[in-house]
Amino acid sequence: MTIQQVLIVGAGQMGSGIAQVFAQAGYNVQLFDTKEAGLQKGLAIIEKNLQRQVDKERITATEKEGITSKLHPITSLDQCGDVDLVVEAAVEQLAIKKQIFADLDARMPAQTILATNTSSLPITEIAAVTNRPEKVIGMHFMNPVPVMKLVEIIRGLATSDETYEAIHTATEALRKTPVEVNDFPGFVSNRILMPMINEAVYTLYEGVASKEAIDEVMKLGMNHPMGPLTLADFIGLDTCLYIMETLHEGFGDDKYRPCPLLRKYVNAGWLGKKTGKGFYEYT
Ligand code: NAD
Repeated sequence: MTIQQVLIVGAGQMGSGIAQVFAQAGYNVQLFDTKEAGLQKGLAIIEKNLQRQVDKERITATEKEGITSKLHPITSLDQCGDVDLVVEAAVEQLAIKKQIFADLDARMPAQTILATNTSSLPITEIAAVTNRPEKVIGMHFMNPVPVMKLVEIIRGLATSDETYEAIHTATEALRKTPVEVNDFPGFVSNRILMPMINEAVYTLYEGVASKEAIDEVMKLGMNHPMGPLTLADFIGLDTCLYIMETLHEGFGDDKYRPCPLLRKYVNAGWLGKKTGKGFYEYT
């Protein structure tokens, strides 16, 4: 099937980036968020990213205008026409995603593919709330979306080959690299990454070293581009906690127990860069 019209649900740091790369590849994009402030913040991120590309002479001002004209912000799904593909990028909570997918299933034509950018939640369970589980798939972009090449494509138990092929083709049209994985908690990326971040938080919690020292060891010693606590701040500590909870529950193994310090920061509203404070402070 040919994908032309795309709806992105959630205009946060991921949804805005996903909307940008689809618009930049020539798709017509509707960007939806339940919160007007969330939508405006997402549009401001896109504007800043595109302006940076103009300043670096990667695109012209006219091309920037063309990309912006492909983006249509909406605050109600009633404003959205039929689309070929939905990419959901709302918060990492199963109940919320199930509600969104049930709603989308009722609204969208039978041929529309419903993809989720979930970092860890079961695609099969999200698909089960719809009447089209063969058209539900994971399309897991990395942060920051305009920069990172990988898209993990996750097949649910019922995902059809036709749906997989359409998403594989669309990912390549975005000039990104699709990698196929199966549906298990955390998939590949976060099954490996997030326990490392959680362990870094435990290392801080147990007073083994300062946050700066932990990040420095992993940067200089392991050649990571940024330390795990800085990375956690960039991902969002709420998202990190939700992913650890998904791994803990999904595998029933205490080795995935979220660090109490991570939970404490999230309860305090210290969510990382997006709220100005996490392990570090951001102005
Ligand atoms: P975020 O907090 O920056 O943005 C979430 C947005 O969703 C907010 O603007 C919020 O208003 C909106 N929202 C909440 N409920 C909604 C609903 N019912 N309908 C529409 N919009 C709704 O979060 P994020 O970092 O962009 O993460 C979004 C998703 O992407 C999560 O599932 C997350 O696990 C996944 N993800 C995150 C990263 C990362 O590094 N942050 C990487 C890959 C995938």
